[in-house]
Amino acid sequence: MKRYASRNPKYLPEKFYNLKADLGELPPPPLNPATRQPLNPSDLEAIFPKSFIAQEISTERYIPIPSPVLEAYSVFRPTPLVYASRLQKYLNTPARIFYKYEGVSPTGSHKTNTALMQAYLANQDGITTLTTETGAGQWGSALSYAGSIFGVRARVYMVRASFRQKPGRRIMMELFGGEVMESPSPTTDSGRKYYQENPDHPGSLGIAISEAVEVAAKNPEFKYSLGSVLDAVLLHQSIIGLEAEQQCQELGINPDLIIGCVGGGSNFAGLSFPFVRKKLKEQAEIKFLAVEPEVCPSITGGKLTYDHGDSVGLTPLLFMYTLGKDFVPPPIHAGGLRYHGMAPLVSHLVKKGIISARAYPQDKIFQAAEIFLKTEGILPAPESAHAIAAAIDEALEAKKINKEINILFNLSGHGFLDISAYDRRK
Ligand SMILES: *Cc1c(COP(=O)(O)O)cnc(C)c1O
Repeated sequence: MKRYASRNPKYLPEKFYNLKADLGELPPPPLNPATRQPLNPSDLEAIFPKSFIAQEISTERYIPIPSPVLEAYSVFRPTPLVYASRLQKYLNTPARIFYKYEGVSPTGSHKTNTALMQAYLANQDGITTLTTETGAGQWGSALSYAGSIFGVRARVYMVRASFRQKPGRRIMMELFGGEVMESPSPTTDSGRKYYQENPDHPGSLGIAISEAVEVAAKNPEFKYSLGSVLDAVLLHQSIIGLEAEQQCQELGINPDLIIGCVGGGSNFAGLSFPFVRKKLKEQAEIKFLAVEPEVCPSITGGKLTYDHGDSVGLTPLLFMYTLGKDFVPPPIHAGGLRYHGMAPLVSHLVKKGIISARAYPQDKIFQAAEIFLKTEGILPAPESAHAIAAAIDEALEAKKINKEINILFNLSGHGFLDISAYDRRK
């Protein structure tokens, strides 16, 4: 078995894959927060660019990737698909482990995939500024970078706890021309009420989203951008799985189990959905496993119901697994997984029994990260280490029954800017 699939430029797909075309029954629709009636697409125009809304509601199976976006992708895509033979040897298991490595993107994670597409669409619609939130800073960096490529400014509301703990990410956003605000801030109605209670309020993704949405709604040249959860974001991330399908074919393997960490669900869905299609349409026997932190267990500890995407209640109601819009998870190192909800499409597949989920404590994911670093030589993002921990557990299960299975997981990002978290891990 070769250690790497090639990064043949032909593997970069020219179209995104939309799982909704193959689902049959769709998840319950988003609701207007004021009327609680199914949302009219035009209700979204106050906050999202029109061309983005068109992709959000589309049920077309394939959606073309515009050539300027393809050109931007080609700088770092196709990303590597690697056979983790050294990890397999270390675990002494018959299971073969493969990973798709999204950490080679310019800002170090899969988030650039949707950031580039969203910045391009906003620019086409004449939008000058995209507002957004960021927790650990991965999403804010990706959007600031994408904005610098397509001539759109990013205004990023950064959760105060991370703003103070992770200056590296803030500096990166500012270098790309992004404007970074500490959240909760005194500059919005949504932020002010938390700020006045406590100027050192640590913030949360839910509050930061409220601030970014409010500002977008009040300014006609501004729109809001979300880095996960929405159908269109999952659509953009499908390029991960479309490439992986071809790379697996090159290596002559079929994955039996696909694993990803889940914050809002986008990197996991991106790798999985083209393979979910294979399961639905070609009866391929593939299992899917979503991994979340024990302290923010949206799927394993949440409820499937309508809830807001933000804390204040400005966003549409989405039918999803959620811990409640007011849930504030404790500050763990995997900041990108601290979100109360789960993408409606991922939630739908969990309900249908196609995706299963599991939660891990922080000490376990750091142990997995160290094993991975020592065997495969890559420092993973603490978020991605959740997927590694599950891949290791599954490979050890396979060893018990001496079964040769193929495990494929998404290594959603590198951990170079999380290095201080590794120092504080114990
Ligand atoms: C943001 C982030 C995640 C979680 O977001 P999803 O939308 O669930 O993919 C996972 N890994 C990394 C490296 C991230 O930056």
